Amino acid sequence: MNSSLNAARRSRELAEVRDLVVDVLVVGLGATGAGAALDAASRGLSVAAIDAHDLAFGTSRWSSKMIHGGLRYLARGQVGVAYESAVERGVLLGRTAPHLVGAEPYLLPLVPAVSRRQAALAMTGYRLGDGLRAAARTPRRLLPGPSRIPADRALALAAPLDRRGLRGALLSWDGRLTDDARLVVALARTAAALGARVLTRCRALELTGGGASVRDELTGDSFVIRARTVVNATGVWAAGLHPDVRIRPSRGTHLVLRARTLPGLTAGLHVPIPGENNRFALVLPQPDGRVYVGLTDEPVDGPVPDVPQAPEEDVAFLLGVLNSVLEAPLRREDVAGTYAGLRPLLAGEGRTADLSRRHALLISRDGVVTVVGGKLTTYRRMAEDAVDRAVSLGGLDAGPSRTARLPLVGATRADRGARDRLTGRYGSEADAVRALMAREPWLAEPGPTGVTGAELVWAVRHEGALDVEDLLDRRTRIGLVPEDREAALPAARAALAY
Ligand SMILES: Cc1cc2nc3c(=O)[nH]c(=O)nc-3n(C[C@H](O)[C@H](O)[C@H](O)COP(=O)(O)OP(=O)(O)OC[C@H]3O[C@@H](n4cnc5c(N)ncnc54)[C@H](O)[C@@H]3O)c2cc1C
Repeated sequence: MNSSLNAARRSRELAEVRDLVVDVLVVGLGATGAGAALDAASRGLSVAAIDAHDLAFGTSRWSSKMIHGGLRYLARGQVGVAYESAVERGVLLGRTAPHLVGAEPYLLPLVPAVSRRQAALAMTGYRLGDGLRAAARTPRRLLPGPSRIPADRALALAAPLDRRGLRGALLSWDGRLTDDARLVVALARTAAALGARVLTRCRALELTGGGASVRDELTGDSFVIRARTVVNATGVWAAGLHPDVRIRPSRGTHLVLRARTLPGLTAGLHVPIPGENNRFALVLPQPDGRVYVGLTDEPVDGPVPDVPQAPEEDVAFLLGVLNSVLEAPLRREDVAGTYAGLRPLLAGEGRTADLSRRHALLISRDGVVTVVGGKLTTYRRMAEDAVDRAVSLGGLDAGPSRTARLPLVGATRADRGARDRLTGRYGSEADAVRALMAREPWLAEPGPTGVTGAELVWAVRHEGALDVEDLLDRRTRIGLVPEDREAALPAARAALAY
């Protein structure tokens, strides 16, 4: 079956799904839900997967885009979580999404505030992380080991660092996504290619073990999707559909800087947070030239908003930490955009920064499987566990999960050094996007962050984008800088009308 998602397919499948009883209904199309839809469809099960908004509308698009090896979990003694992360990182890098996930270098600059003891401790951590890589059988070719580099090399990789008193840097490597929202789109399309009905703008109003009452958010129509099993993958919103789930959301804020703000930054940075032990802010250069700076971890009470906002105190905190290692400190005006996301952590005791990132399955009395917690890196394992449980609860006829060996749409093994921008975003589909660019001049014209009209049209035809927000805020990330978003609106409207 075709992997293309678009308005016509949505209408057709929305009509079909009313007359069916599917094997698995997945609610929520973030990384976890899209992963569950793929897991179930690839076992030969019939699947409907719905989201109240769009693919990657929730937390999955607000991440740091890191595919973690799990080092921080190791530091807290959570060996199982750390190992699971390292294994999943290897799966993405080596097999399922080598076009979307690559190795990224990070420097921990040895500025005067970092003591020799702290540096030695950090290096021990990086070596342990490299041990995890080896244990997970990810080859060094995909993820190099750590080393200490002298100050001149550190400055060659990260020119904005303050050179006064710089003793060098610790260089380490971890996985990094081209874009988290693109991972979700690739998962949903791969599931669709295997027959899953992927339906955005469909809100579950109520779940039972036998399906859901659903509202089409475009028309207001209500209907029922009947299912043999139901997986609730609504992340930080899961408690709204399952009374026994207790989530303690934790806000993570990032700053968005333009490429010109930190020229000469080609590696990420781990910046020690003053006064904290073994906690770092992250400086994350992106393939589109922008730089993200994160990340806070603040518990949030009260109703869960659709789109969380970054408060000014988070912005000031992150700027302060970043400036502690820069030669020329940045000002508030240098911050071109901000974003915040809510981690769907399971409620427990203690600070949210210390709550386990392990995922959990919760089964309601009538058999709804809720899968929460975890992180982007381990979405595949979360999905596998949820579908395993649904299969056994529903007595479904299905074999074991196949997703550890199933390449996502576009997967290609292009050498990282040889990858151009389009290959890093579209993998083996890059040539088809190029062919679209050749049709008319405006389709080849790069807009903000280099995105062309052809990419917007591609998103409408194949990636399920239904409106301007889908195009600018999720299929591309132009919208992270409000000024750029404004500038790209005419192209987005033209793509929808094309
Ligand atoms: C700031 C931040 C940085 C992070 N960085 C990283 C990182 O670098 N690496 C990493 O591995 N992890 C990271 N994480 C963790 C990771 O992003 C999350 O664990 C993960 O994205 C959660 O995905 P999910 O699919 O479970 O939830 P979500 O992505 O939130 O998906 C839930 C979906 O459910 C939908 N929904 C809600 N209610 C309904 C309803 N009633 N009916 C239908 N649909 C509904 C929503 O629209 C949403 O699309 C980060 C988290 C945060 C907050």
